Amino acid sequence: MTSISLRVEILRARIQKACEACNRVPSSVELLPVSKRQPIELIQAASEVGFATFGENYVQEGLGKAQACPDLSFVLIGPLQRNKAKQALQHFTQIMTVDRPELALRLRHLAEELQLSRGIWIQMDLWGEETKQGGCSEAELPALIDALEGDVRLPLQGFLAIPPPGNPEAFQDMARLRQTWQDKLGQRLRLSMGMSDDLEEAIEAGSDQVRIGTAFFGERNR
Ligand SMILES: *Cc1c(COP(=O)(O)O)cnc(C)c1O
Repeated sequence: MTSISLRVEILRARIQKACEACNRVPSSVELLPVSKRQPIELIQAASEVGFATFGENYVQEGLGKAQACPDLSFVLIGPLQRNKAKQALQHFTQIMTVDRPELALRLRHLAEELQLSRGIWIQMDLWGEETKQGGCSEAELPALIDALEGDVRLPLQGFLAIPPPGNPEAFQDMARLRQTWQDKLGQRLRLSMGMSDDLEEAIEAGSDQVRIGTAFFGERNR
């Protein structure tokens, strides 16, 4: 058994156990492998055990992998600068880190110009982390949602968050935010939260997608 299939088995068992603890169906939690700073050979090994979509943090790195692996899809889970927006739309199937109205407007303009459609996720920061990771505050969220304005080319899928470590309540904050906006918009919104070290807490709070790097692929290259 390759080390990836062994790690996947361990991860599936963790997800199953976390779901059983809160009466959720394990198939309701998507396992998104995060392949940043991992070699193409490992991505290919993961595709051989059934994974077809991978999270990448850096536009340049991700587009190289997307070009090298045309049968797989890559989603952007790292910060997006305005000047990389076009490349990001061209090479990633979803943009999961939209966090400000200017970026949303830029993406809309480009999606129209390029005639393509991409799933959009809003990255939230409810905890005033002000990390380099980015994220939209709750106060700024209405303006960002307005900027997307139900654009058919850029359908809103849900929210992504990277809550501060050691604060499981933070996942519950996201669950409340999701509920509020599902009610306002009258549509289902997904939550992408939980990583290698905290997927259990995220699942308990209702996460629909856990993004797993090291527990899936092993340690990253520097
Ligand atoms: C790196 C990264 C992950 C995966 O982190 P691990 O701790 O290796 O599982 C998930 N989400 C984002 C946004 C990341 O940058």
